[in-house]
Amino acid sequence: MLELLNIKKDYLVGNMKIHALKGIDIVFRDSEFVSILGPSGCGKTTLLNLIGGLDHYTDGDLIIEGISTKKYSDRDWDTYRNHRIGFIFQSYNLIPHQTILENVELALNISGVDKQTRVQRAKKALDEVGLKDQYNKKPNQLSGGQCQRVAIARALVNDPEILLADEPTGALDTVTSVQIMELIKKIAEKRLVIMVTHNPELAEKYSTRIVKLLDGEIISDSNPCDKSEILKKKKIEEKTIGNKSRLKFWSAFKLSARNLISKLKRTLMVCFAGSIGIIGVASVISVSTGVRGYINSMQDDMLSGNPITIDENALDLSKMFSSVDDATKQEIIEEVVEDGYVNVDKLIEYLIERGNMLESFSVTNDITSDYVNFIEDMPSEIYSAIVKYYGIDVSNNIFTDVKFDAYEDSVNMSLNSILTTYKEVLSETEYKDIGSYVDMMSSSFAQAPSNEEFILSQYDIISNPETSKIATEKDEIMIVVDRDTKLTDMLLTQLGYYNQEQFFNLLYKYNDDPHYNPSIDKDSFSYEELMGKTFTWYPNNQVFNKTDASNPLASINPFTYNNISSSDWTNGVDLKVTAILRPKEDIKYGCLTSGFYHTEKFTEMIIEDSINSEIVNYINQTENKKISSFKYDMPQTGQTIYYGVTYQIKYVYKYGDDEQINGEKTCFVGQTDKMSSLIGNIPGSSFEIPTTYDLTLRSVGGVNLPSSIAIYPVDFELKDEVISYLDKWNSDETIIVDGKELTKDDRNEIIYTDNLSVIISMINAMINIVTYALVAFTSLSLVVSTVMIAIITYVSVIERVKEIGVIRSLGGRKKDVSRLFNAETFIIGGLSGLVGVGITYLLSFILNMIVGSLSGIYTIAKLNLLTAVIMVVISILLTSISGLIPAKLAAKKDPVDALRSE
Ligand code: ADP
Ligand code: MG
Repeated sequence: MLELLNIKKDYLVGNMKIHALKGIDIVFRDSEFVSILGPSGCGKTTLLNLIGGLDHYTDGDLIIEGISTKKYSDRDWDTYRNHRIGFIFQSYNLIPHQTILENVELALNISGVDKQTRVQRAKKALDEVGLKDQYNKKPNQLSGGQCQRVAIARALVNDPEILLADEPTGALDTVTSVQIMELIKKIAEKRLVIMVTHNPELAEKYSTRIVKLLDGEIISDSNPCDKSEILKKKKIEEKTIGNKSRLKFWSAFKLSARNLISKLKRTLMVCFAGSIGIIGVASVISVSTGVRGYINSMQDDMLSGNPITIDENALDLSKMFSSVDDATKQEIIEEVVEDGYVNVDKLIEYLIERGNMLESFSVTNDITSDYVNFIEDMPSEIYSAIVKYYGIDVSNNIFTDVKFDAYEDSVNMSLNSILTTYKEVLSETEYKDIGSYVDMMSSSFAQAPSNEEFILSQYDIISNPETSKIATEKDEIMIVVDRDTKLTDMLLTQLGYYNQEQFFNLLYKYNDDPHYNPSIDKDSFSYEELMGKTFTWYPNNQVFNKTDASNPLASINPFTYNNISSSDWTNGVDLKVTAILRPKEDIKYGCLTSGFYHTEKFTEMIIEDSINSEIVNYINQTENKKISSFKYDMPQTGQTIYYGVTYQIKYVYKYGDDEQINGEKTCFVGQTDKMSSLIGNIPGSSFEIPTTYDLTLRSVGGVNLPSSIAIYPVDFELKDEVISYLDKWNSDETIIVDGKELTKDDRNEIIYTDNLSVIISMINAMINIVTYALVAFTSLSLVVSTVMIAIITYVSVIERVKEIGVIRSLGGRKKDVSRLFNAETFIIGGLSGLVGVGITYLLSFILNMIVGSLSGIYTIAKLNLLTAVIMVVISILLTSISGLIPAKLAAKKDPVDALRSE
């Protein structure tokens, strides 16, 4: 039962109060067909809206099932509309972008009915109004009458107790009007139908009661209802308000998705525009991730080429970098230039300061046996290899066969001597410059890390796998070729693989010399040739012989260097080449560069033998005596010269050409630069300026503590552990090394060099700065697109006002309306994000192709899935936030106004 008690409705237009309803008292039966007649503007629609709960009365009371609605909340009104009221309008108010089935479903959607029941009930309602099998048509494919039937089906689908119809036939022709009236009449058999109409005949013919309205007042009622009449019939049941109506987010989502699909082109354009900001930010992140990823991927690789090293003499890089800052901060003092005076530019001060500064960068590490033990105690799982270098010059002691033009047959000469001989020979030709290059190529043999696995992880054995193995023993050596399976011609010359003729032929060839002879050209060496050559190591006592005391030069040439072996030398160790190695495809920096490698055991053998050799003893003694100057009477002239010297050794070799051996040449070996120039300048002296080079205690294997230690961590992560292990040495705590307790005072600070970290942290810092700057910059476009989406959402709100009204009339809450628009911005945000991320992936791919084809690096841009997801989420968040205000505006729209709008 519905009862209106003195209902009044005033509208405020400007300062004027319009009394639309002036006190309506009326009771409706539970089922009857009431027609409300009256001229335009008399308040019919207002009355209907009040009954339907779309609008609220100013005064009076509306009593539903005996309960006053004075205290109804918005929520109660929504539920009331959703469950008890069905509305139909003159203009049908169907949602154009939905099928008629979905239009009908909408009312059920709002009440939160599940999908299956929803479809079933919606179809049933459509069947009942005679629209069977037209479910999937859109409203614009139907006639007016059919549209009104859909509207009726939608109004009835929730099985309301009251159907409110505002001029339902107003837009229909007579025939269709009659059909609709018939339909409504049938509905009224079980329900209360209140219909506003202009058409008295139709009202007369179909309704059971006619109420006439004029100027907001009832002027006649053909069949008034007495309240007691109903009360008699049935007791008032306290009917609870029923299920709360609510629009599920998913339904709102689908509704919005439909709307967006119906405006596909525009949606796509909006999404594209919205995605530009995302593309900007994502691209920057993509490139920065790619570059960083590339560097990280290189780290483990680079690590094998850049181990952590501890050197006797090193540069403190961190100190150097910090001082660069200090230097720039130095304030500049303006010097006063007085008239008539010239100031002194303090170049000396500058030079001294710079010298001091450079000195302060260099560190001297005292590598003690305790320290060596400490390094060897390092947990073996954190490093792949530790290589100790002793600074031994093995080229003095390794001999191999070489063919010089000066000798009829090949001679077994020391590697060092081969170099010097070439240099000497070249110095007499026009290829002098090459001679100095030869000299620069010093050590042809280096020490390989003693970890087979570590080497094999970076290098492939390319020589016969059955007979090859990684060198592990003292008499085993390996050849490492570069990625292109090459060894330099210089190295091959230096090791006697090329004979003098072939070597000179190369010089002729590249200098277009007519001496060039193509038939002796040699471009490649077979594995057998390379591996078949014999290298022999001879001990110090064999190669460095004490000069006979009777020799007048004995005091300045205490040792003679035997640079060519003779057949009676029997104490040599033959070195076998056991493998030829080549870096694996993916290794850019390996632990071995191309060249020849001996083992750590070989080094140990040398030291063991050398430490007690004559020359080592001599140098030790000399050093102990600290001879700083030396007096010598020149035998030819009787002149006395003084020079600083520690020791010298000499060797003799023959020179000349094929036809004629010109003679012997004396070369001094040792720390004798000063002496050689002196001797050369002494008038009347018959000495030629001798070839000299340095020998040190270390170079002859006289020191059993390493001068340098290289540590190869297992990988980049474990490097930190290696570092923290090394840091323990410099800490204050007492440590135990090899069972020996070492307090802080027992240890000198050791500064290790970790070049790779310095480089990588610098690169990373740079990438960070650039990334932040670019992200900040591109974020501007994100802001722009966000604002744009807010505007577009607002436009959409304006476009969909009608829909808002319909949803409200069907019992949708304000929240449901805002949810609808939030869903729309959510979808746009999501799509924009996806489009943005998709385009970024495409751009990254193109960039990678371009950069890849230029540099071979195909990962310069890389958008992580996680970043992509985050970008989509950011897009959704931003657009959702931007849609909040328009959605709120939509929710606030007065449903009555919304429905009135055309
Ligand atoms: P009817 O449906 O009978 O043609 P209405 O109920 O629409 O008449 O309107 C009744 C009166 O109330 C009219 O004078 C109309 O101008 C006024 N009115 C209706 N709605 C509003 C409103 N939202 N604001 C101001 N005046 C209104
Ligand atoms: Mg009206």
